[in-house]
Amino acid sequence: MNRLPIYNEDTPAKPGLYLGLFHGREDPEKKLDGWGFNGPIIGPLNHVHTTYLSHIKIEFETPQEARNYGFDPGSLMELVTDDDMVLFQGKWYGDWIVYYYKISSLPALKDITFDSNSIDEGKAKNQIITTTQYWDCDCNIDYIQPYTQKHCAVCNRNKEDCSNSRVTEVLQHKLPLNKHVG
Ligand SMILES: [Zn+2]
Repeated sequence: MNRLPIYNEDTPAKPGLYLGLFHGREDPEKKLDGWGFNGPIIGPLNHVHTTYLSHIKIEFETPQEARNYGFDPGSLMELVTDDDMVLFQGKWYGDWIVYYYKISSLPALKDITFDSNSIDEGKAKNQIITTTQYWDCDCNIDYIQPYTQKHCAVCNRNKEDCSNSRVTEVLQHKLPLNKHVG
């Protein structure tokens, strides 16, 4: 499986509800020096539902996102606790946080090559207009990554090796785009 985004180190690929794991350790018996390691950011999710403080059930927005995290989308997806920690992929975490991630600040579209008021249809079809606000990874779906994301954990591509996204495709995917040229 590809590397998952890490809490406090990476940003999620898209806005949504996420479960972040941290205060991690490989062995629950071992005393920790400091805070241990940061764990994955899991999501985007529709909900997080805890039962009897021992079963944390999650539902992903899409089946593909569930598979990215090693879950079978057709079955119950849950993390279990062990003692007072949550267990995920063979590692223990003392802390977990459920939070909403939104893209809060986008750079101005300085790289748009013409004034959007003067686009004529024929010209727009022949001309490729890109934006630094997003880049294209190699995924078949959800391939448009925000500039804040440096790496796609699904196809394992880095932002620096990929090209900027086309504005038309960003808009087709209904992603937020800052059109204000600063
Ligand atoms: Zn990708």
